[in-house]
Amino acid sequence: MADDEFDLIVVGGGPGGYVAAIRAAQLGLKTAVVERDKVGGRCLNYACIPAKTMLHTAEVLDEAKNGAHLGVKTEGVELDWKALSDRRAEVSAGLESGIGMLFKKNGITVIEGEASLTPEGDVEVDGKTYRAGKVILATGSVAMPIPGTEFSDRVVDTWGGWSLPEQPAKIAVAGAGASGAEIASAYIRFGTDVILVEMLDHVLPTDDPDVARVVERTFKKQGVEISTGTPVEDVKPGKDSVSLKYGDSTAEVDYLVVAGGRRPDIDPLGLEAAGIELDESGKVKVGPDQLTSNGKVYAVGDLTPGPALAHKAMEEGIVAAEAAAGQPVHPVDMDLIPSGTFCHPQVASVGLTEAEAKEQGLEPKTAKFKLGGVGAGSVYEDRDGIVKLVVDPEYGEIVGAQVVGNRACDMIPELVAVMALEGGYQELARMTHPHPTISEAVLDAARAVDGWATHA
Ligand SMILES: Cc1cc2nc3c(=O)[nH]c(=O)nc-3n(C[C@H](O)[C@H](O)[C@H](O)COP(=O)(O)OP(=O)(O)OC[C@H]3O[C@@H](n4cnc5c(N)ncnc54)[C@H](O)[C@@H]3O)c2cc1C
Repeated sequence: MADDEFDLIVVGGGPGGYVAAIRAAQLGLKTAVVERDKVGGRCLNYACIPAKTMLHTAEVLDEAKNGAHLGVKTEGVELDWKALSDRRAEVSAGLESGIGMLFKKNGITVIEGEASLTPEGDVEVDGKTYRAGKVILATGSVAMPIPGTEFSDRVVDTWGGWSLPEQPAKIAVAGAGASGAEIASAYIRFGTDVILVEMLDHVLPTDDPDVARVVERTFKKQGVEISTGTPVEDVKPGKDSVSLKYGDSTAEVDYLVVAGGRRPDIDPLGLEAAGIELDESGKVKVGPDQLTSNGKVYAVGDLTPGPALAHKAMEEGIVAAEAAAGQPVHPVDMDLIPSGTFCHPQVASVGLTEAEAKEQGLEPKTAKFKLGGVGAGSVYEDRDGIVKLVVDPEYGEIVGAQVVGNRACDMIPELVAVMALEGGYQELARMTHPHPTISEAVLDAARAVDGWATHA
């Protein structure tokens, strides 16, 4: 095969693209990845990883400042913004170079530059055409400003919010979904004044209201000013600050961080000429094997319908690579993609909320169990969270689960596993959980469905 010819060319080196490339190479395909910026994509360089690195420091700082009752007395604890920013960059750079090493190990060629498709479904980069047996598009998504505003020095997107040049005294965050909640949660613990504005009626508007209430209470206790049911309007950026209106209030802050919508990053790709169709929301239409309407082009990740999450992108990347290699297809089950918000307390969920189950006519059984009920809730100061289960009343299959608490994102995989194996709450209620762990609250939540939680 010629140097410029590949069995598979992956466009975009984010979680969808790099995982697809590695899987394809494992299956023996001669594989290239085209990336115009950094491998690891937005997830690793501008989104998930930098955000969680910053949140980790917020947690350490908070514990250091507020640990006297735990017997940890500290004096003069302060945030070193430069060290934090340096570490954030180092963590991303380290992981980026790790992906470079995985590419090398798997014999994957990296082509630097911006790719587009030719009408035949080959890949063009900087005027040069690379012939491709199959193509996987994994170009991700870009942030959108709120209507009537443009991104600028003072009105920034989430990456702007996580990479501010100095610690701001006061910020406003537009949008209290996962990203907005994470930014608010980090900055309030850094010591910045935070106004969190949400157009819908509660923070984390797509999460169960029982769960969102716990987060809202904690945020308020920490000092976040929360305004819900109020769009951000009348944004006026100045040289050193930005003013805005929300509901009946106005504010002047150092930065407005817009944590709102995103759209697929498809403009340079030439999708129409390559016969690739979009759905009504502008995402690339794909089948269960991730194949687009062009018979040799697959698409994965934020480009395609479903939640915009890195692990969804990775699993779709595996499916597309296996399909491209002629392997049996194991489609991603969209009902079993967990979501995680890494604010304090964390929120994680999978499947249906109680309201969604009712909308589907299920009349579900539900159970809620407070983390404070189990010993570990007190040991680890995690008493306020809850585990909520949503259960199909007919056979007891768990159709949804929500967890709020300091370790929620590490607790949800157990519930994903039970649901993936079509387990019922009855089985979960009999599975021994290690003591003392917060996971015992999952056990008691399962027992609570039939009213026999032992620690309630
Ligand atoms: C602030 C923030 C925090 C987040 N936190 C989480 C989290 O904690 N957990 C989670 O699961 N998800 C999180 N997400 C979502 C997650 O980042 C995305 O779902 C994920 O990055 C999507 O992966 P992807 O492979 O589709 O695309 P991306 O990660 O966006 O990667 C696409 C890559 O394609 C490249 N590219 C684009 N067009 C071209 C082209 N024409 N030619 C060549 N290269 C191109 C881009 O440079 C980029 O590197 C977060 C998102 C944001 C904004």
